[in-house]
Amino acid sequence: MQCRSCGTEIADKAIVCYRCGAGTTDPVRRPAPIARHRSSLVPAFIAMLALIAGALYLGQVSETTANPEQWRMAAGGLLAAAIFVLVVRLIQRRRR
Ligand SMILES: [Zn+2]
Repeated sequence: MQCRSCGTEIADKAIVCYRCGAGTTDPVRRPAPIARHRSSLVPAFIAMLALIAGALYLGQVSETTANPEQWRMAAGGLLAAAIFVLVVRLIQRRRR
């Protein structure tokens, strides 16, 4: 058979052309497309859950502490961070 790239006569069983190195057949396995949006959402959700868990914990602590306002502010900050992470992720996903 002839090389598809350079036209050199090569053996029928050859996998690549000995002259130019071009493959004689199409690659059987094409590289799998990377599932980007799926993998990128997982750490965001884990971070969000951790932040919500932290906020709930701080909310519990605020019930038993002498200065609950400070703890509630910290909990609110964590919740805001969790919502921020979620919103950013959703916006990024929609753009793709
Ligand atoms: Zn060739």
